[in-house]
Amino acid sequence: MEEILKKYEPIIGLEVHVQLSTASKAYSSDGTTYGAMPNTQTNAISLGHPGTLPMVNEQVIEKAVRLGIACQCNIRERNEYARKNYFYADMPKGYQITQDTTPICTGGFVAIKDAQGAPKNIGLTRIHMEEDSGKSIHDIDPFHTLIDLNRAGVPLLEIVTEPEFKDGQEAYNYLSEVRKLVRYLDISDGNMEEGSLRCDVNVSIRPRGQKEFGTKVEVKNMNSFRNVQKAIDYEIKRQYEVYESGNQVVQQTMTFDAGTGATVLLRAKEDAHDYRYFPEPDLQPVLVKQDYIDRVKSELPPLPSELLAKYLKLGLSEYDAALLTESKDIALYFEDIIAHSNNQKAAANWLMGSVKSYLNDKAISISEFPIAAQTIANLISLVEKGTVSNTAANGELFKALLEKPNEDPESLAKSLNLIQESDSSALLELVEKALAQYPDKVAEYKSGKKGLLGLFMGEVMKLSRGKADPKMASKLVQQELDK
Ligand code: ADP
Ligand code: MG
Repeated sequence: MEEILKKYEPIIGLEVHVQLSTASKAYSSDGTTYGAMPNTQTNAISLGHPGTLPMVNEQVIEKAVRLGIACQCNIRERNEYARKNYFYADMPKGYQITQDTTPICTGGFVAIKDAQGAPKNIGLTRIHMEEDSGKSIHDIDPFHTLIDLNRAGVPLLEIVTEPEFKDGQEAYNYLSEVRKLVRYLDISDGNMEEGSLRCDVNVSIRPRGQKEFGTKVEVKNMNSFRNVQKAIDYEIKRQYEVYESGNQVVQQTMTFDAGTGATVLLRAKEDAHDYRYFPEPDLQPVLVKQDYIDRVKSELPPLPSELLAKYLKLGLSEYDAALLTESKDIALYFEDIIAHSNNQKAAANWLMGSVKSYLNDKAISISEFPIAAQTIANLISLVEKGTVSNTAANGELFKALLEKPNEDPESLAKSLNLIQESDSSALLELVEKALAQYPDKVAEYKSGKKGLLGLFMGEVMKLSRGKADPKMASKLVQQELDK
């Protein structure tokens, strides 16, 4: 790869389709439940029967506006719809209702890290609203293709980037950011396996120093972020070899074969005029006014970048802050702990330590975690007050709470005999007892052998069976010795 990069500069742009998590379809009242019985979510509008009329789902507009605000895009006031005409067996209308010349969002960016970890903004060309097609199923019946039209008409946002990626790693990082963003914004579940995020990549290379872009190739049908990255890196190498052997790269659409790791020809690229776009006559333009945008903005859920900045400001390390904001569920749980505790560092330690390792062990997500965030805040305060030791809280007490999550942590600690001895009269007795056992050592200490303090402390801890609050015990030992 280094050889290639010395001579050529890769140029990459991404087109991502995000399936929106709305209860009904983009232009009809059909349901959108994933995995429903085939062809049960298909009314006459989804099927495009003559005489039916589509209606705009307001939720689609709102979700598009949310994403546009989060990416600092310009949001268009007058949104027109267009028909994109083509024939697919699983698209009964024979056209897709989409936006052509008036995408709802333009400009804006997604902040990512480049392959070296430095910050980089990827510019967005446009985000537009459209609808999905149905699904052709080739692997159930050996003689026929089966068609499930449940997905036909499910709303999508297409996010098109500027050609600003330099390599597969940047594309991978971008997709991770987009997935995080759509999940935080509650606009999509972002699951690539279920087809909620789909990515087409456009790749070209040009000799270093050349102004014009090289001919691009589009790769479709990758089912994981890693495969997107692999397809890009493969395509860079393939194009390099084409040019180096004196040939020209041909503009075409390829597909990625995950088995061989190679891109293979799908079809020669169609041009925009093949689709014969024209204005959708059945839908009025939708006006998105500033007060609407302001309302959506005021109701926007917290963004990962905002929470990251907040946690850094609270004094958490970059590493902790990044880990905490990686998934929305974890971040919200953390928010919930720190709403009940001022010790953010301890909250991060609990979440990234005992809680995370339990989740990993059980292979469950935080939404299935039995202990409430407020209870964790409670544990933090018990440790802070010296009621239980940090070790006992993270160990025995945590384990007991997993079994009885609704119990009060302090009473549970009591019943488990985990309360630290900090009642000073009880502790004083133990200290006196400990010192009484070593009259010679006490004399040695008094004549200057201060190192013996550890011995006395050890004895006190032993007598208390580990429950003495070490700070308090040490204070009392000193006080007794200095008498
Ligand atoms: P098309 O008309 O083929 O759909 P667009 O100009 O709409 O092409 O761009 C589609 C995607 O391809 C965008 O993400 C864009 O950034 C990217 N792109 C455009 N030109 C190039 C190029 N020469 N090399 C790589 N990517 C490109
Ligand atoms: Mg295009």
